[in-house]
Amino acid sequence: MRPLAIFGGTFDPVHIGHLTVAWEASELLDAEVRLMPSRTPPHRAEPCATAEQRLAGLRAALAGQDRLQLDAREMEREGPSYTVDTLRELRAEQGQRPLVLLLGEDAFAGLPAWHQWRELFELAHIGVLSRPGLSVVRSEVLWREITERRIAHSRGLDGRPAGAIIELQVTALEISATRIRELLASGRNPRYLLPAGLFADPALLQPYRR
Ligand code: ATP
Repeated sequence: MRPLAIFGGTFDPVHIGHLTVAWEASELLDAEVRLMPSRTPPHRAEPCATAEQRLAGLRAALAGQDRLQLDAREMEREGPSYTVDTLRELRAEQGQRPLVLLLGEDAFAGLPAWHQWRELFELAHIGVLSRPGLSVVRSEVLWREITERRIAHSRGLDGRPAGAIIELQVTALEISATRIRELLASGRNPRYLLPAGLFADPALLQPYRR
């Protein structure tokens, strides 16, 4: 059974860094990958664009290819978008299919602060995506999980629905939505840091322009 990998985020806005690492993860894991925008991210400030605007950006960015899919289920849930709730839902739908939660290195380092974080390992594998430019410190509790669960090759996921941690060496791109918001707000045009689809409709980048 091909794994199902979930790549969650604020996508405020979606950028080439997100798309490249999600694409490469799909190749490395031979997985179906779904991008899953969070309506109300529990661990950060309110996004700049509304949930509907971010979703429209993702739709435009993903048009014209079918390797990366969009899963908008968190948009329909009220309250904080806890990943553990989403993974429980997916597990109920997908039976014993391997599920992989994809996280950039920075997000992975923050995992012990997530709601019911240890439960995540019961529900999914974790795929850690290399991300340059951010200083990331892994806590001792996280290292304990890594030591017990780390696997070196995606073959280790075969036949196991959840529980492993795999580091995925994807092309390192030092791109963040924070930087893109800064550039847009100062009147610059980060043309090639963003997917072409975001330029098809001026409304998609309007929330970030001053
Ligand atoms: P912001 O700058 O607003 O915090 P971001 O660029 O980090 O945004 P998010 O939507 O918050 O983007 O991130 C969603 C997921 O994508 C996280 O797991 C994050 O680590 C990962 N990610 C984002 N950009 C990259 C990148 N350039 N390389 C690898 N992973 C990335």
